Amino acid sequence: MTRKTGFVWHELYMWHNTGNYAGVMPTGLTVQPYEHAENPETKRRFKNLMDVAGLTDQLIEVSPRPATEQEVLMLHELDYLERVKLLNETGGDAGVFTPMGVGSYDIALLAVGGVIELVDAVLDGRVDNGYALVRPPGHHALPGMGMGFCIFCNGAIAGLHALERRGLERIAYVDWDVHHGNGTETAFWKDNRALTISIHQDNCFPPDSGGMDMRGTGAGEGFNFNIPLPPGSGYGAYEATFDRVVVPALETFAPQLIIVPSGFDAGAHDPLGRQMMHSTGYRELTQKLMQAADSVCNGRLLMCHEGGYNAPTVPYFGLAVLEQLSGIKTPIDDPFAQILQGLGGQNLQPHQDAVIQQAETLLDTFNP
Ligand SMILES: [Zn+2]
Repeated sequence: MTRKTGFVWHELYMWHNTGNYAGVMPTGLTVQPYEHAENPETKRRFKNLMDVAGLTDQLIEVSPRPATEQEVLMLHELDYLERVKLLNETGGDAGVFTPMGVGSYDIALLAVGGVIELVDAVLDGRVDNGYALVRPPGHHALPGMGMGFCIFCNGAIAGLHALERRGLERIAYVDWDVHHGNGTETAFWKDNRALTISIHQDNCFPPDSGGMDMRGTGAGEGFNFNIPLPPGSGYGAYEATFDRVVVPALETFAPQLIIVPSGFDAGAHDPLGRQMMHSTGYRELTQKLMQAADSVCNGRLLMCHEGGYNAPTVPYFGLAVLEQLSGIKTPIDDPFAQILQGLGGQNLQPHQDAVIQQAETLLDTFNP
């Protein structure tokens, strides 16, 4: 079955200039200049592969627009917005590990606005589901500071738009980026309108963040699920996490919209993560989310792009996800699939199973 799948893209997303760091490290006399980890290449190659595969033309283009200041201020503090706006002229750092080039404020607004437009397209029924290939990413950004390459928390702001302007009462996040979705967690920490689930590598980034005991507070207590998988987790661990924790939590909460902060840095070969996902795995996780969305919210599912830093492999993960969302199989097969799927330890390991068993107990006290 094919679906109407929306796609958000803008060339300016690729013009957000993070400079010539060496990975995440500023350069100097002891560190030779290289490229910043969060550079356009993975995203550009993802889009290029979709074009070459003939998939882009079969999707429904959803044009981004700049978010308004009022929209950004649903989540972020005015002081922070003003500071980022000043950096638009000069470049600089918006917080911790958040380099900006000239114009990055405007591009960050276009990223937020792109995800909001996709939310509207899904809620208006113009598309069934969709993917926003935006940049800069968003899921680490906090109300008062940028963090981890993220200027504004794109997905969380778009979710607030759905709740506060579109009249939704319940939304859910399933963040499969290898790093903890601390920005999304913070945005809804005291809020029971959003179920926030993050599946990430245990204590990777931010440091000391994303523990399973972090459940939210006040009205939001119990509505935050962190599932910190041990480094080295392959598809077996992800499959078990989705089957035993993520999908049951979604079915219990019955959101009216599911948003996936979609980083592909849990892929094997990623320089900033140590997990072992592959394109077949991402395809199957997408299928599980689509089935959950079909059962609770008429299939309303959208993804916003986050991390993913291995330029050769990320495009194939992205293509697999978009093929699954749209139901359109292109003629292009992932040439890396055999190598990545053949890595040792892809099956669920006992120490990973122990973490997932512990995560299952979070469901016992989840009574929305
Ligand atoms: Zn990440």
